[in-house]
Amino acid sequence: MSSVDVRSVTKAWGETRAVDDVSFSVGKGELVVLLGPSGCGKSTMLRMIAGLDEPTTGMIAIEGRDVGGLTGSARGVAMVFQSYALFPHLTVADNITFGLSVRGTSRQEIAERLKRTAALLDLQKLLSRKPAQLSGGQQQRVALGRALIAEAPVCLLDEPLSNLDAQLRQELRREIRALQQRLGITMIYVTHDQTEAMSMADRVILMRGGRIEQNGRPAELYERPASLFAARFIGGTPMNLLELDDAPQGAIIAGTAGPALFTGQGRGRVLGLRPEDVSVDSANARASLHATVTAVEYLGAEALVTCSLNCNLGARPIQARTRGDGAPPIGARVGLSWEAGATHLFNGTSGERLDIGAATHAPELHKVTT
Ligand code: ADP
Ligand code: MG
Repeated sequence: MSSVDVRSVTKAWGETRAVDDVSFSVGKGELVVLLGPSGCGKSTMLRMIAGLDEPTTGMIAIEGRDVGGLTGSARGVAMVFQSYALFPHLTVADNITFGLSVRGTSRQEIAERLKRTAALLDLQKLLSRKPAQLSGGQQQRVALGRALIAEAPVCLLDEPLSNLDAQLRQELRREIRALQQRLGITMIYVTHDQTEAMSMADRVILMRGGRIEQNGRPAELYERPASLFAARFIGGTPMNLLELDDAPQGAIIAGTAGPALFTGQGRGRVLGLRPEDVSVDSANARASLHATVTAVEYLGAEALVTCSLNCNLGARPIQARTRGDGAPPIGARVGLSWEAGATHLFNGTSGERLDIGAATHAPELHKVTT
C-alpha cells in the first residue's frame, strides 16, 4: 500500500489553477521531491497534503484512507515550512515540544520523545538555548525536530534549506536523507533546486504550471528527459539544444552545412546533447562538425568549453566538458563528435521527447570508439 495517494487533485484560486489535475503516489519510506520553478504549485500541493488547504476537486488518501477535512495531526503528517520561524522567547526544548504540549501529551511522554529527537538531531547540548544563540544550521535542525517529534508517518518539507548557505545546505541535505532512511519516514520534500532534488530523492516529480511534467527516478529524468522543459531544468550545466533543419541527406543542425545526423525529418525538431557527451577534437581528425572555441571555464578536474558552430544563422553556441588539463585554447578550430546513444530529440513545438531509431543515425559524425 502506498503511503500517500494524490488523485486528480486541482486547486483553483479564482481563474488560476495553482495545481491542475495532478495524480501521484508515494510509497512507504520513500523520499519524493516535488521540483519546479517558483509558482508551479509545489507549496499548494504540499499544503493540501498537510490539510492546510482543501483541494477544489480530487482526493488525497494517506495510508489508504481519504483524509478530506481532517487536520494534519489526524492525517498523521508533520510539516516543516520554508519560513520556519522559531519562537524567539522559547528555549530549543520548548520550541521542539510546543506542538505536543498544546495537544495535551503527558509530561513523561514529551520528555521521552524530546530525548529521542534531540539525540537524533544532535541537539542535546543546545536544549536550553534560545534561537538567537544558534547558528542557521542549528535553527534548521530545531525546525526539523519540531516536525520529527510528532513521530508522524509522513513528513512534509517545504524548501527547508533555502535560507542557508551552500555548504550548510549540502551538509543538511545529507543529514536529512540519512535520517529519513534510518527512520523509514515517508517524506515529500519541496525544492526549486535541481541539485538538491537529484541528490536526495528516490523519485523526482517535476512540476510546471500546476501540472506534472515528469515523474521518475533522478537517473531517468537525467538520461531520458520527457520534454524540452525537463531537459533544460535538470542538469548542472544545461543540455545543449539545437534546432534542426532538413537537407537532402537527412536532418542537419539548422544553419550548418551538415553533416546529416540521421535520416528523416529535421525541421521542427530540436537536438539535445549533454555537454559531457560532446567530444572536442583539436586535431579535427574524424569529426565533421566544425566549431571554434570561444570560452573555456576551468573547473579543476574538468573544464567547460564553449564553442561556436560554423553556422550561417549567427553564433550557435555548444558546450562540451573536457578534462581540466585537456581543454583547447580559445580561438582553436575543433571538430565535435558524440556517441549515437547520447542524442536526445524533441518536438520543437510541443516540446515532447521523440525517439530516433538507432539504425537511422549517420555514422560519420559519431565518435569512433576503438
Ligand atoms: P511554488 O510553491 O511552486 O512556488 P505556489 O504553490 O506557492 O508555488 O503557487 C502556485 C500558484 O498559486 C502561484 O501562481 C501563486 O500565486 C498562486 N497562489 C498560491 N497561493 C495562493 C492564494 N492563497 N491565493 C491566490 N493564489 C495563490
Ligand atoms: Mg513554495
